Amino acid sequence: MDALLEGLDPEQRAAVEAPRGPVCVLAGAGTGKTRTITHRIAYLAQRGHVAPGQVLAVTFTKRAAGEMRTRLRALEVHGAQAVTFHAAASRQLRYFWPRVIGGSRWELLDHKIRIVGRAAQRLGLPTEAEALRDLASEIEWAKASLITPEDYPAAAAKAQRDIPAPAEQIVRVYQGYEALKAEAQLLDFDDLLLHTAAALEDNAEVAEEFRDRYRCFVVDEYQDVTPLQQRVLDAWLGNRDDLTVVGDANQTIYSFAGASPRPLLDFPRRFPEAVVVRLERDYRSTPQVVSLANEVIKWARGRPAGSRLRLIGQRPDGPTPLFTEFDDEPAEADAVARRIRKLLDDGVAASEIAILYRVNAQSEAYEQALAEQGIPYLVRGGERFFERAEIRQAMISLRSAGEVPGSLPEVVRSVLARVGLTDDPPAGGSARERWESLLALVELAEELVSAVPDADLPRFCAELDVRAEAQHPPTVEGVTLASLHAAKGLEWDAVFLVGLVDGTLPIQYADGDDAAIEEERRLLYVGVTRARVHVWLSWALARAAGGRKYRRRSRFLYGLVPEDHPAARVARREPLQQKKAKPTCRVCAATLLEAQAVKLGRCTSCPSDVDEELLVRLREWRAGRARELKVPAYVVFTDATLVA
Ligand code: ATP
Ligand code: MG
Repeated sequence: MDALLEGLDPEQRAAVEAPRGPVCVLAGAGTGKTRTITHRIAYLAQRGHVAPGQVLAVTFTKRAAGEMRTRLRALEVHGAQAVTFHAAASRQLRYFWPRVIGGSRWELLDHKIRIVGRAAQRLGLPTEAEALRDLASEIEWAKASLITPEDYPAAAAKAQRDIPAPAEQIVRVYQGYEALKAEAQLLDFDDLLLHTAAALEDNAEVAEEFRDRYRCFVVDEYQDVTPLQQRVLDAWLGNRDDLTVVGDANQTIYSFAGASPRPLLDFPRRFPEAVVVRLERDYRSTPQVVSLANEVIKWARGRPAGSRLRLIGQRPDGPTPLFTEFDDEPAEADAVARRIRKLLDDGVAASEIAILYRVNAQSEAYEQALAEQGIPYLVRGGERFFERAEIRQAMISLRSAGEVPGSLPEVVRSVLARVGLTDDPPAGGSARERWESLLALVELAEELVSAVPDADLPRFCAELDVRAEAQHPPTVEGVTLASLHAAKGLEWDAVFLVGLVDGTLPIQYADGDDAAIEEERRLLYVGVTRARVHVWLSWALARAAGGRKYRRRSRFLYGLVPEDHPAARVARREPLQQKKAKPTCRVCAATLLEAQAVKLGRCTSCPSDVDEELLVRLREWRAGRARELKVPAYVVFTDATLVA
């Protein structure tokens, strides 16, 4: 048989051999979707059905595009384009620009926040870094969802967005941002896509030339397409249908940014003549890992029809997934590093091991622990902790803060407030990542104080320098540290899923939003399915060494931890234990579950400046010892019964 078809199962082969036209592969993780599309491109090229140069294969991240190129090279396909949507659009736009728009060429905008800031400033709106980042993410969501400024309020309400400012303000900033960009001939990433689609939609000659050049389209990870990317894809296709898409609705992890699995699931309806293939055999992972993945996704709520795919493991048996609970995060990181040392000693290559976490700020503890063990590592999709811009800026501020009395963590917190550490966490996205990184510094200060009670700011700065020094120089071969988002599509022999506590996975701001919680669950599914053989899941009950154990393991682990596991027994006792130890808000007395709130001693949404006298009156009233509660008009409590 043809060498290209040999390593494929019958369903994969059906997709590879399908005649040119619409093909859709709906399948779970590790079933060979990426393998199928790369083999299809190679097969069509080898049989002379299409010239490699006429193939345009797109996906969403540079890493995933690189993975496709590597696989195509291995199949000796040369000349097919495998790139991100943005790279494809940018290349096309440069070529067509003189004809469709003319005049001087655009520049790519690389300082979006600054332009959003100028737009906000002109309107007299707040320009703190956090506020601007939230506004920029909201504008990005709107553009990726093809929502104009005018349509924004209705669309945001319909999508039930948790918006960072009144809708009218966002509209005005969005309009201002667009105007400033146009004045300066700047395009952002979404503009590249918008202009590309418009160039083909509005200009028949350009469309004809393009469609003559590219004849066969392939999309990997199609479950994460945004309406804007879909519009570009439709413009590329025109009225043709030579399109192969592959995806897994259970791996949609960018819906917060406008992505949706709908086009994938609706593909067979849109193209009734499409060859539709469902793959179930999982070639990546051992049956033990596959069964854990099936369990994780089994509990997902609101799964659309077409996403209920079960995985059937094909590999030989392997070790059972390991669940481990730790007292604190440093202990967790240390244990992970020791296990990795053992794997390395057993002959597993460092490049076959990954530590995956929810937010990049979690990497610091693991960078440190690996450095202590002398294990090389690389941080994927994010800079090393001490190289991040906000951390470098924070360290400069801390060094120049001079002598400040009163506790170290409070001093650190107040200095960091100047570089963006707000009391309340920003809603999400990169702003949240930066906030988490800054908060990690405060936690390091707490850790230092618990070890050295009289540590001051200079001592803390020295400690940070030592830690930064201890981190390894960049390496290309090493243990991978990556966020779950950055790990999509990749695979390793051993995967450590760390920090599985409520508030981190699911992330705290997803609470109360069912759709957001489900996206968090899919992230765990993506994480588990990255492992070929070993998967370790761990969590720690306290952040800092010796800290209060107020954290709970991730709600997604209930039902997954084996009944005879010590952590399962702890879980069964949890309600009772919690009753005794539940921390409550000093302002509204609500139970505090979120780490940041516990640290503050109040809900993050409760006011920080309520005076003690008022609190005493409040407690009296709550306890039924006062009939009336008089509070100043500005005090708003989070407890619904207490809104003043
Ligand atoms: P994801 O959803 O995570 O992107 P995927 O469906 O794209 O996964 P691939 O990465 O293509 O899956 O394949 C997973 C692993 O299984 C790869 O190592 C691939 O080489 C291997 N594989 C796929 N199909 C087969 C097969 N028929 N025989 C042997 N190995 C296979
Ligand atoms: Mg894939």
